[in-house]
Amino acid sequence: MKALYIDAAVAGLRLVERPEPTPGPGDVKIRVLRTGICGTDLHIESWDAWAAGAVKAPLIPGHEFSGRVVEIGEDVASVRVGELVSGEGHIVCGHCRNCRAGRRHLCINTSSVGVNRDGAFAEFVVIPASNVWQHPETIDPDLAAIFDPLGNAVHTTLSFPLVGEDVLITGAGPIGLMAAKVARHIGARFIVITDVNEARLELARRMGVDLAVNVAIDRVASAQSALGMTEGFDIGLEMSGHPTALLEMLENLTHGGRVAMLGLPSAPIGIDWAKVVSHMITIKGIYGREMFETWYAMNAMVQTGLDVSAVITDRFPASDWEQAFAVARGGDSGKVVIDWT
Ligand SMILES: [Zn+2]
Ligand SMILES: [Zn+2]
Repeated sequence: MKALYIDAAVAGLRLVERPEPTPGPGDVKIRVLRTGICGTDLHIESWDAWAAGAVKAPLIPGHEFSGRVVEIGEDVASVRVGELVSGEGHIVCGHCRNCRAGRRHLCINTSSVGVNRDGAFAEFVVIPASNVWQHPETIDPDLAAIFDPLGNAVHTTLSFPLVGEDVLITGAGPIGLMAAKVARHIGARFIVITDVNEARLELARRMGVDLAVNVAIDRVASAQSALGMTEGFDIGLEMSGHPTALLEMLENLTHGGRVAMLGLPSAPIGIDWAKVVSHMITIKGIYGREMFETWYAMNAMVQTGLDVSAVITDRFPASDWEQAFAVARGGDSGKVVIDWT
């Protein structure tokens, strides 16, 4: 089968022929239709410090996908051949305390598809049946392929009650843009998003935020004034990993404000902890999605009119994967999808 492959601990992927994976007991083999390119994949392609520490080459990366089940392993009763599916990319141990308590997204022994084991940048991928998410036949395979990052957005956005609240989202990448849509869908009042990339801010405006602030030239405080806000945002969704974004967010929260942090900072950030204490601010770290409450929630929201399709801005056939990665790395795009058919 064709697969994107990193065969030594050095930068660069190659599109090569690899043997098709075989499903073991409890596994499902999937013919991949579409994959999304994630920031994680860009880290792996450039083999930066994070990749060198976290990824074991050789590897087929890729964890955002949709596909059709073509084979099931022994003991699989929940999934049928022919079904249109995506996969939860975090494979949990099943025996740690959190797993045993049903808090699988908090497993301390998580292994990740496309990071710790072969992933979906290929014509076929094998995952445990327990990680399969079955889609209705009516769903667009492109949208089905981004349920993983949509799940990040949904999990982050649903972390705190949002109805009638004013929400600040820092970072207008694909997950920030989808979070804005989710916040609107579930009844937030003002939604303000920040970035330094005008193309992404323009996309955010088209996707219905109240204000998209270019923090290279403007401040969040002036967005508050423009909207007639006087007491600060109730909720912060940090999607950028950027130190100044978190600092400016904390400056613009009301007392008792709550922050869900998905953006992964590349170094420790010094924040004003006295302000966190005296303003009684809650900060919650978010990683992945809840298994499988987030999947049920996003499925239900998509069925009831949540439309994030505008976040997919670019599509490429697998043969043009280099161009797809270049566009994703360029930063002006929303979600970039690769077609494996
Ligand atoms: Zn991802
Ligand atoms: Zn576990």
